[in-house]
Amino acid sequence: MTLSFDPDSLELPSGHFIEGRYVQARGEMAMRRPSDGAVFADCPVAGKDIVDQAVAAASKALKTSGWATLRPRERTKALVRWADLMEEEAVTLARLEAVSSTRPIGQLIAGDVAITAEQIRFFAEFADKEGSELVPTDGNSLGMIMTEPYGIVGAITPWNFPISMAGWKIGPALAAGNAIVLKPSEMTPFSTLYMAELAVRAGIPAGLINIVLGDGPTTGAAITGHPGIGKISFTGSTGAGSAIMENIARTGVKPMTLELGGKSPQVVFADADLDLAAEAIARNILSNAGQACVAGSRLIAERSIAEPLAEAILIHMRNIKPGPTWDEQSQYSPIISERQIGRIDSLVQAAINAGAECLTGGSRLDHPGYFYAPTLLTGVDQASPAVTEEIFGPVLTLQTFETEEEALLLADHPTYGLAAGLFTRDLSRAVRVTRQLQAGTIWVNRYGRSRDHILPTGGYKSSGIGKDLGRDAYLANRRSKSVLINI
Ligand code: NAD
Repeated sequence: MTLSFDPDSLELPSGHFIEGRYVQARGEMAMRRPSDGAVFADCPVAGKDIVDQAVAAASKALKTSGWATLRPRERTKALVRWADLMEEEAVTLARLEAVSSTRPIGQLIAGDVAITAEQIRFFAEFADKEGSELVPTDGNSLGMIMTEPYGIVGAITPWNFPISMAGWKIGPALAAGNAIVLKPSEMTPFSTLYMAELAVRAGIPAGLINIVLGDGPTTGAAITGHPGIGKISFTGSTGAGSAIMENIARTGVKPMTLELGGKSPQVVFADADLDLAAEAIARNILSNAGQACVAGSRLIAERSIAEPLAEAILIHMRNIKPGPTWDEQSQYSPIISERQIGRIDSLVQAAINAGAECLTGGSRLDHPGYFYAPTLLTGVDQASPAVTEEIFGPVLTLQTFETEEEALLLADHPTYGLAAGLFTRDLSRAVRVTRQLQAGTIWVNRYGRSRDHILPTGGYKSSGIGKDLGRDAYLANRRSKSVLINI
């Protein structure tokens, strides 16, 4: 079966998804397809009234289903059925993702859908394995740390990996016994709506997963400031993360997990396996056209091998095939919007005007839609915006070093600390440098996430607070209550 499809004849879910049903709403924001720039749908903007309705539905579903107090294995079973159904419905789910996002259909089924289903099963398994514990106290007392869900989790996700991000939020929240009100990005809501629909079909009680559509300042703020929501889980830019912190501080304090931006370095020492390094570095910056929070966009190479390494990366950059996300043969993603492609280009042109050399790319591709050429810039200094700003595009900068100390200075970013890559055959150096790199994830002789869901992901510095994935993400959806009983 071919996965390619006609984007004009794809039936799209429409409206918000509350209490297991679509709630129709007037579209207010025109949506354009990144692959051809065509306006193809419009997204409603939920105001406070709709968010109130979703919170009320979540609260009612928690009460009527007893989700938080069920035998935990029942939650596991329901979530596993949902994950199974997502895989059965992978083609529809993937098409709904591909139509509005930057994710090529050929990468979605074995990639985003399968990995997300696996992650949901991973979180589901914590439900009956983590719980309250007895603590030592005197013989006349029983001490206990009891853990409980928050009730309703409010989640907000970005456009770059919509299915995965929805799975990261919904999986641990529900496994831990919560309900959720989630706002996907206004640019890519369809796959998230369909995931929620599949959850109900899989037997997860209606109202436990509610999806409200809209923008950040209206709908997002109505979620983060809602008194009925016990915890916020956000993934997006550092700027939006700051606005969310401010709103939470203004409207009543509540806990939050923030997964924010990055500008991750990839440090290559002369003793590294250069073919392996070139392949990993190129694959990462080309994946989703660099629109990934952990994009390793700053290549920092030992001077003696910088030239052959760059040559090897250039081969990958020049050979990748762009194409619409609905064509199974497409390898290379478009940029999400006209605005974002303009931002990428202005950062690249500013670097070139300031003296950078552009080894490839440096312009929009001559192709319908919003495609930007894979770009490699060298001759950039540490203060250049191309090196400091999260470009969120297929732009790699190359800086060189001579000593380990110099490499570490270049790798350190003043505000971001999401991830870092390190390539060397010297084990002592790998351990020494790993200890000094200021980032929440370090990849050595590889780059990018794998299926090791047990590894938490999250940032140092302004790249975030708290973790997604891993046991930490499950525990972040529960809070503890200390109990001391006088026997
Ligand atoms: P964005 O911050 O513009 O938007 C993300 C989401 O937040 C959207 O749903 C948006 O509507 C909402 N939002 C925006 N302003 C808000 C506000 N004031 N209150 C509440 N909600 C608000 O980010 P984006 O452009 O969609 O995604 C790209 C960014 O996400 C990049 O910075 C990237 O690094 C980051 N990201 C981080 C991770 C991670 O795990 N750390 C993963 C993916 C993406």
